[in-house]
Amino acid sequence: MKLCVYDAGAGARVGLVDGDAVVDGETTEPMIALIAEWERARPALEATLARGGGTPLDRVRLLAPIARPGKIFAIGLNYADHVAESGMETPKEQVWFTKAATAVNGPFDPVEIPAVSPFVDYEAELVAVIGKGGRQIAREDAAAHIVGYMVGNDVTERVWQHRTPQWSLGKSFDTHAPIGPWITTTDDIADPHALGIRCLVNGETRQDSNTRHLIFDVFDQVAQLSQAMTLEPGDLIFTGTPGGIGATMTPRRFLKAGDVVRCEIDGLGVIETTCRAEAVP
Ligand code: ZN
Repeated sequence: MKLCVYDAGAGARVGLVDGDAVVDGETTEPMIALIAEWERARPALEATLARGGGTPLDRVRLLAPIARPGKIFAIGLNYADHVAESGMETPKEQVWFTKAATAVNGPFDPVEIPAVSPFVDYEAELVAVIGKGGRQIAREDAAAHIVGYMVGNDVTERVWQHRTPQWSLGKSFDTHAPIGPWITTTDDIADPHALGIRCLVNGETRQDSNTRHLIFDVFDQVAQLSQAMTLEPGDLIFTGTPGGIGATMTPRRFLKAGDVVRCEIDGLGVIETTCRAEAVP
């Protein structure tokens, strides 16, 4: 099933994507409550979806499927070609940083080029959405805690990322975590580690890889994070980006106002955001 949050003029609603249309979920429960107990929520939503009668997707605005996750963790240096272009050693341990929950952005909403430092880059990523929470989750149990997957762009301000050993500030500017266009639940995904993933800027392909090239796979990531902390429904895991970032090109190519950044993953859909200069008060 494809779970979205949409606005057709009456505020944010949970919807079910049916081809090129969205069927209203007919629920007042927020998305996080639905995915926290997905097996309980699912039959009613399936029945609603079966009745059809959707609104064309091009007549609604899709919002971030999880507007305010409890936490967003993201792994660095997790595709070999990205490690190589970064001039780093292949990490022996998972390299984690956080993105602020306030960075969440809709799948088609503008990404801001910060006035304080404009060196903005894209990172197309598979995003895992935690359903059932848990702590000290074994790798073999990890799949049961992931309700679905989305496309994400781990937008990064490179100067703020690298001017301190800890990357989180440069990863956390407002609007720098576009996600969506919807949550594809795991039953619709044969193998999350066999998905083509691409990023295009103004139609030019910059990243083109496959999630089978992840160094630490998604289940390893859930197991490792949950050794330290309780994972909760709606928590998001950005699982790493392949090679092709703008910062390591010669010359470097950062995003600028007007650029259109499209991230796509096979079977999960497309998010597409236009960059604009941050309005300074
Ligand atoms: Zn990233």
